[in-house]
Amino acid sequence: MNSEIKQCQNCKNSFVIEPEDFLFYEKIRVPPPTWCPECRLIRRLTWRNERSLYWIKCGLCKKDTLTMHPPENNFIIYCRECWYSDKWEPFDFAREYNFSKPFFLQWKEILTNTPQVNLWTLRNNIGSDFTNYSVDNKNCYLSYSAVGCENVFYSQAVDKDNDCFDCTYLKTSELCYENLNGSNNYNSMFLIRSRDCVDCEFLFDCSNCQNCFW
Ligand SMILES: [Zn+2]
Ligand SMILES: [Zn+2]
Repeated sequence: MNSEIKQCQNCKNSFVIEPEDFLFYEKIRVPPPTWCPECRLIRRLTWRNERSLYWIKCGLCKKDTLTMHPPENNFIIYCRECWYSDKWEPFDFAREYNFSKPFFLQWKEILTNTPQVNLWTLRNNIGSDFTNYSVDNKNCYLSYSAVGCENVFYSQAVDKDNDCFDCTYLKTSELCYENLNGSNNYNSMFLIRSRDCVDCEFLFDCSNCQNCFW
């Protein structure tokens, strides 16, 4: 079997399917893809919306509720309190599987007709309404994938940080600004891939530094 050049049905760019890909598709009995790898990746990632939030009315108590689901999806969204409550019965939305109908059609039907929780926020998120995929935070704002943080703003993938702003992939740090991919930093700004640094600014790939600059 030879490699084949195909045109993506979505972006119209060409992409290659290698012989071993064809063998794999044959093995799992699916047709070769019609979309290029990048378009396929984008389509898969649309399942996780961390940062775009929308106001809607809770489908049960009707109060204004923040959600990660765009209103044009027409999903039934319940606020967190309602969704975890006994005010509704999930089994009321159960249905028989119809073997004569395509699976994804039925998947879409159950998805649009079954209530969904507004955001992925678990347990004790105190004063952290504008966060998503977040657990055990206090006074955090517009931060996503945040776990066990306090006073963390405009950050993403942050874990047990305190008083940090504009950080990404930062762990167990305090008083930091624009730290990208680091851990155990204190009172430091503009650090990239640096860890265990104290009172530092503008560092790249540094470890265990104090009062370092540029
Ligand atoms: Zn494409
Ligand atoms: Zn509600």
